[in-house]
Amino acid sequence: MNRIKTQCAQYYRLAILMSGLVISCGVQAFEEEQNAQPRPIAIAIHGGAGTITKANLSAQQDLEYRAKLTEALRVGYEVLQQGKDGQHAVIAAIQIMENSELFNAGKGAVYTFAGQHELDASIMHGAQRQAGAVAGVKTIASPIKAAQAVMNHSAHVMLSGAGAEAFAKEQGLAEVDNRIFNTPRRFKALQKAKQAIEDRQTQLLEFQDYKFGTVGAVVLDQQGNLVAGTSTGGMTAKRYGRIGDSPIIGSGTFADNNSCAVSSTGHGEFFIRYQVAADICARMVYQNKTLAQAADEVVNGVLVEAQGSGGVIAIDSQGNIAMPFNTEGMYRGSIDIHGKITINIYQ
Ligand code: ASP
Repeated sequence: MNRIKTQCAQYYRLAILMSGLVISCGVQAFEEEQNAQPRPIAIAIHGGAGTITKANLSAQQDLEYRAKLTEALRVGYEVLQQGKDGQHAVIAAIQIMENSELFNAGKGAVYTFAGQHELDASIMHGAQRQAGAVAGVKTIASPIKAAQAVMNHSAHVMLSGAGAEAFAKEQGLAEVDNRIFNTPRRFKALQKAKQAIEDRQTQLLEFQDYKFGTVGAVVLDQQGNLVAGTSTGGMTAKRYGRIGDSPIIGSGTFADNNSCAVSSTGHGEFFIRYQVAADICARMVYQNKTLAQAADEVVNGVLVEAQGSGGVIAIDSQGNIAMPFNTEGMYRGSIDIHGKITINIYQ
């Protein structure tokens, strides 16, 4: 009888051991499968908002914008696919647009009232809320690259004017003559803006026929980081060293891994006063809003009420994307977590 009891106990122990093994194999297989699953990645970009309608754009221009947006998206997305940090994807996508005369950033930057170009840019990384920005720079070929250098290689968040240019030079970034940003199209826009200001005896800020052409990118990388960046030439005919929202963290650019990443385009003064980018992310954290709700409330609620025109691109930690705007159009595009590419210009 005792022998039978001992044998039963042994079988029982063996059964427990086996089931433990089965469970731990199952867990291991599940973990391996999870690790093998590529983590979600996504990207959204904008090339400015404003009075952009089908009637305003020729078929040729329409095609050119779509092609450049597609190129910028694909280049940024490839960086994400390689598993690199999101900041590199943001830089890569924005540099494609800075190098195109189509957008009001880098090569296509608008003119100041004095006939020069003063560029602003910023970048923010959502993991530790690291950020960098340059404002009012005239000789830096790629302002977004300079903003990244400020973030990664300085003790500061924002550098401006000649100081920012000296820093960029020390960092080995390309220095250019301000005239390389001259383009006939933007020169014409300056003449038009000056005329309008004179005719209406009005301030630039009331000049309504506006096409904002700032560029920006927001991404979710494989490590779960949210990163945002924005680059601009600012507003046509700006004066007195005017700085817009684009280099201002919380206004033109914001990123926090716990909520969202946002890049703005529009009438900068309003985006500064209403802290547009940070407000969208704050609504997600403090009010449990979804990304779509939060972005829509700020762009189509708060800003519209204040009569501030423009739009944003935004992404959250799940890779959801929102791109609301309250103008006639916004150059925009995205590649979502399923790899689906979307390009749009009009409403
Ligand atoms: N937000 C930019 C600024 O006010 C302009 C733009 O978006 O095009 O400088």
